Amino acid sequence: MTHSIYDLHTHSHCSDGELTPTALVEAAKARGVSVLGLTDHDTVAGVSEAYDAANGDIDIVAGIELSCLWKGRNIHIVGLNIDIENPVLSAGIEQQGKARVDRAAEIARRLTLKGIDGALEGARGYSGNGIIGRPHFARYLVDNGHVKTMAQAFKQYLGTGKVGDVKQCWPSIDTAIAWIMAAGGTAVLAHPDKYGLTRTKLYSLLEAFVTAGGGAIEVVNGVQDNNVTLKLVRAANDFNLLASCGSDFHREGQPWQALGCCRELPEQCNAIWDSWL
Ligand code: AMP
Ligand code: MN
Ligand code: MN
Ligand code: MN
Repeated sequence: MTHSIYDLHTHSHCSDGELTPTALVEAAKARGVSVLGLTDHDTVAGVSEAYDAANGDIDIVAGIELSCLWKGRNIHIVGLNIDIENPVLSAGIEQQGKARVDRAAEIARRLTLKGIDGALEGARGYSGNGIIGRPHFARYLVDNGHVKTMAQAFKQYLGTGKVGDVKQCWPSIDTAIAWIMAAGGTAVLAHPDKYGLTRTKLYSLLEAFVTAGGGAIEVVNGVQDNNVTLKLVRAANDFNLLASCGSDFHREGQPWQALGCCRELPEQCNAIWDSWL
């Protein structure tokens, strides 16, 4: 039996991805994806275009990836199957947009103190009309010879604990989950293994997540170690959460986040899509 391919975590150029929503949908069709979630950072601006491009060949799940805070850490919550016109969510998105603009100015100010000028205008040049984020600053740092790679830009300037790591602007996870639930969606804890948490801290985060109304976790994010998958399947079952999966695709040429790379979930999971039937 062939399995349908679900990819429920992807980005377009409306946030920090490279493809237009139309090109993303076409690429997903070419990879044999049956159900595609578009989950841009803090915006739903690409969803209507994705619906139009689907043209009945692929199912689109309206989504978003919200930046928020838990105990001072930057956590990402994906919302799936959301009503993109819900007023509570829309107000939240507007707040996130303002927070990103203020944060970008602060990142640029801090980079100036390190002798790097012009970063705000530079990053804006890459983000265009989309939301502005750290990857746009990373590109500026690479293209202007301050670092060699995007990874180095994060390691030296933008990643956790570095000068450009400005996160005080984000809402609590409770608030982010409330926006998603107001829009009728399911809140999914994104890439739980990427926060560098011990098992005890992860379980403490999951406790807070479930208490706030969170419904699922990403058991698979991109290409990951099997041990990680097993750990997350166990966490999902310990907290009675649904399981989601997605590539976290941003652009071609990153095989660890290849579109449609998650082919099936371990069978001990309760897949989130079974709750949509
Ligand atoms: P922001 O949403 O502005 O906080 O930026 C976070 C985004 O930066 C993530 O969604 C990734 O796409 C990207 N990112 C985070 N860490 C790295 C890294 N080490 N190298 C390259 N990109 C990264
Ligand atoms: Mn991203
Ligand atoms: Mn993320
Ligand atoms: Mn993502």
